[in-house]
Amino acid sequence: MTLRVFNVLQREKVEFVPITPGKVNMYVCGPTVYDHAHLGHAKTYVSFDMIVRYLRFTGYDVLYVQNLTDVGHLLDTGEDRILKKARQASATPMQIVEMYARSYFEDMDRLGVVRPDISPRASAHIPEQIEMIQTLIDKGHAYVADGNVYFDVTSWPDYGKLSHRRLEEQEAGSRRLTGDGKRNPQDFALWKRAEPEHILRWNSPWGVGYPGWHIECSAMSRKYLGNTFDIHGGGIDNIFPHNECEIAQSEAANDAPFANYWLLVGSLTVNGEKMSKSVGNFVTIKDALKKYRPEVIRTFVFQAHYSNPIDYSDEALSGAEKGWERLMTAVRLTREKLRNAPDDGAGSSFQAVLDEARQKFTEAMDDDFNAPVALATLQSLTGEVNKLLNGAEPVGKATLEAIEKTYTDLGGQVLGIIPAAEVSSANAQREDGLIRLLIELRNQARAEKQYARSDQIRNQLKALGITLEDRPDGTFYRID
Ligand SMILES: [Zn+2]
Repeated sequence: MTLRVFNVLQREKVEFVPITPGKVNMYVCGPTVYDHAHLGHAKTYVSFDMIVRYLRFTGYDVLYVQNLTDVGHLLDTGEDRILKKARQASATPMQIVEMYARSYFEDMDRLGVVRPDISPRASAHIPEQIEMIQTLIDKGHAYVADGNVYFDVTSWPDYGKLSHRRLEEQEAGSRRLTGDGKRNPQDFALWKRAEPEHILRWNSPWGVGYPGWHIECSAMSRKYLGNTFDIHGGGIDNIFPHNECEIAQSEAANDAPFANYWLLVGSLTVNGEKMSKSVGNFVTIKDALKKYRPEVIRTFVFQAHYSNPIDYSDEALSGAEKGWERLMTAVRLTREKLRNAPDDGAGSSFQAVLDEARQKFTEAMDDDFNAPVALATLQSLTGEVNKLLNGAEPVGKATLEAIEKTYTDLGGQVLGIIPAAEVSSANAQREDGLIRLLIELRNQARAEKQYARSDQIRNQLKALGITLEDRPDGTFYRID
């Protein structure tokens, strides 16, 4: 089956055909680094991580570019987010940028989000942005007004094609309708004149200033991915004006289509309202990780299709946690049983069940990366696995290995919710040996009816995050 994606540009699900067979060039709008990331960011970037992971899993060579906005993203008051934060914290803007860029990568690393191949920063690409703005002026799509440069939306009839907004319906892309020499309220800034107190400033052919927010994505995607590339992604709330402006700038400057496929991620909401810094209804990723494992947060994100919104609540997270625990219990049991599995044993016909699960999983992911259905496939497979593992006859080694591989490929490599078995490192082997030694001592104590001693071992292991589980076929442990 071929991969089909919902292309927002066409408003329909279409077959995905990359420009170069086997290769995917992909750009995703990254965060503005002026504060710690919250769960809304987690939804966007975990979703694209799942998409990139699946594309790579199916054999595509993906070049993934995701920018960091560190200049030019203004608040509704016209203030630069980063400058405002820098003033509040009595720090230089680049200290703020560095601090929150590190914080962002730290959060993403913990969530198991594979880092983009290139993470370009807007402030490091000022010459590229100036060059593109000059091209737009030369071609008559932009004009200079009092040290500012604006894109003339009336020069570009396609403006509005992604968000399907007609010019007359559009609210002003900027707070100031006519100030600063703007010809039309909808014209948007490519370059802004810097007032004396504005410390993020660069020389340009139009005077000292700084770039508008939208131009960075056009300039940086062109630099790293070319005029036309395969996939452009981002959060749905940036469709207008940001994404719309990107398309207009790039296509007008390059005389070439911009991105062939637009994939936009639905918002994370709290009681139906979008989680955002400005509303104040946000939970930082760092706080969420104090309560939930990264894999649980990912599982929660995958409970809705990436393009849909998902509502955050503690109940929803707890539900995801239960589902994830059920999967992991089967995975742990499989790995545990593999230690002493007989070469010949039960389950030789189980390969057909695994093949079917893999096929259903792939079909779901090929259908516009339908992670909720893919996840449900793993859950129903787990019902079958549990039946097999809890049967009277020991399961054979080859079958257990095949089960383990199915979970590791689909749940691990693609969804990133099943951690790999840590059998390879010497430290992990030593730790495993020590825990097993303690289990053996505890079992001896129990056989000798020294229950105080056996409870002590169990409780102290628990305090270290190691839970013992007594089953008819032996004592198992798991590390939480
Ligand atoms: Zn962007």
